[in-house]
Amino acid sequence: MDTAPNNTLERWLTGPRFGTLPSPASLPAPKLSFEFFPPKNEKLEADLWTCIRRLEPLGPRFVSVTYGAGGSTRARTHDTVARLARETSLTPAAHLTCVGATREEVDEVARAYWEAGVRHIVALRGDPPAGASQYTPHPGGYAQAEDLVRGLRRIADFDISVGAYPEVHPAALSADADLDYFKRKMDAGANRAITQYFFDTDVYLRFLDRCHAAGITLPIVPGIMPVTNFASVKRFSAMCGASVPAWLEKLFEGLDEDEGTRRMVAATVAAEQVRILQANGVDEFHFYTLNRPDLTYAIAHILGARPVAAG
Ligand SMILES: Cc1cc2nc3c(=O)[nH]c(=O)nc-3n(C[C@H](O)[C@H](O)[C@H](O)COP(=O)(O)OP(=O)(O)OC[C@H]3O[C@@H](n4cnc5c(N)ncnc54)[C@H](O)[C@@H]3O)c2cc1C
Repeated sequence: MDTAPNNTLERWLTGPRFGTLPSPASLPAPKLSFEFFPPKNEKLEADLWTCIRRLEPLGPRFVSVTYGAGGSTRARTHDTVARLARETSLTPAAHLTCVGATREEVDEVARAYWEAGVRHIVALRGDPPAGASQYTPHPGGYAQAEDLVRGLRRIADFDISVGAYPEVHPAALSADADLDYFKRKMDAGANRAITQYFFDTDVYLRFLDRCHAAGITLPIVPGIMPVTNFASVKRFSAMCGASVPAWLEKLFEGLDEDEGTRRMVAATVAAEQVRILQANGVDEFHFYTLNRPDLTYAIAHILGARPVAAG
């Protein structure tokens, strides 16, 4: 076998592939959290509960339920979170936004959660309701997530997560202004941040470096989006400011009507992403499950997560 420096067996074997990354067995067990959205009808509700029961044995630190744009799912979010608290061993977290409600109304929702035993809130400004292009604070409401965090801190000793934007929030004046604001929001009383999803892993690691340099020491948990439907991820990414790299587009090329292959490709992409993060010392992951368990389960397994015994 040729062993010359530029054409060695060693060169082929030391490329960036799983085998060369530290093994999950030698790394701390991953801390997981899973995000769901509240179902619109009975069929979707059944799907959600199948998803929850499949992921429950992985022992996530918490599971969160989103709040529809403009607060449109207020009752459904509450019902799902309350049922999680009542019927499962999981720690539920309720997303709550500032949109379209007075401070008193938002406070009332938060108090109802506390009374239902829910101790974790994902505090967000929220996006404008469908049809509105720009965010306008409610005249009597919390203007931004920072204000909501302060409000929640006055109500009870909640565990509070907030959003973070490795690629900069689309409404930010600049990357530096966004980082300043993010630090203020964390300092207002958040316990951790969860990031918008991203596909280029270095985007997150660079953001983490900038946050550390700015003195943010609380956990900034990467949000992982397994791509079940590339076309819709592309549409949504254009709105939320997440970039879709050309390499990703190429990988999903021609698969719009081929769900089976798409899912295998999606698993490979997400597995590579989480393994590289893990090899860089990241041990917490938040999964945007889209109420589908299989990809999330497989990726969590690759990270080293195994079902924990009940009870
Ligand atoms: C993990 C996660 C979960 C989410 N879940 C939901 C959900 O359930 N429901 C929903 O509707 N949306 C949800 N979103 C989307 C979120 O509501 C939008 O991204 C929204 O546009 C911003 O919310 P925020 O809490 O990050 O806002 P903020 O942090 O309040 O602000 C967003 C940006 O505006 C700028 N800004 C804010 N205040 C100031 C200020 N005082 N001065 C200067 N600049 C300022 C900053 O650049 C900041 O990054 C979620 C996002 C993430 C990352």
